[in-house]
Amino acid sequence: MTIGGEDWRRLALCAQVDPELWFPEKGESKRAAKQLCRRCEVRLPCLRYALENRVRDGVWGGFSERQRSRMRLADAERVIAADPPRPEKRPDGHRPGCHCQPCRSVEAGSVA
Ligand code: SF4
Ligand SMILES: [Zn+2]
Repeated sequence: MTIGGEDWRRLALCAQVDPELWFPEKGESKRAAKQLCRRCEVRLPCLRYALENRVRDGVWGGFSERQRSRMRLADAERVIAADPPRPEKRPDGHRPGCHCQPCRSVEAGSVA
């Protein structure tokens, strides 16, 4: 997927949830935001934007300001490639694109 310019913002998961989570007060936990970032499909363009523009405040791409200050883009790309965004589980506990036999049967429209 190639996302040019700032188009990634339209797909930002944080925009669909409470954006305040990404800008915690001093001492507040960043964990919830970071975990949601790991499921966000625009994690890499978001992080790239923050690194290139030296954005100070908030969690971007799953990393705090302190983490970003020590990070080079090449490292960020490696981290994210090793932990690609995973779609949320459906109520049945499987994820879209699941390769288990029952899910493949459903997707193929056949009943095993
Ligand atoms: S990676 Fe995190 S901060 Fe960036 S757009 Fe997605 S949810 Fe928002
Ligand atoms: Zn499955």
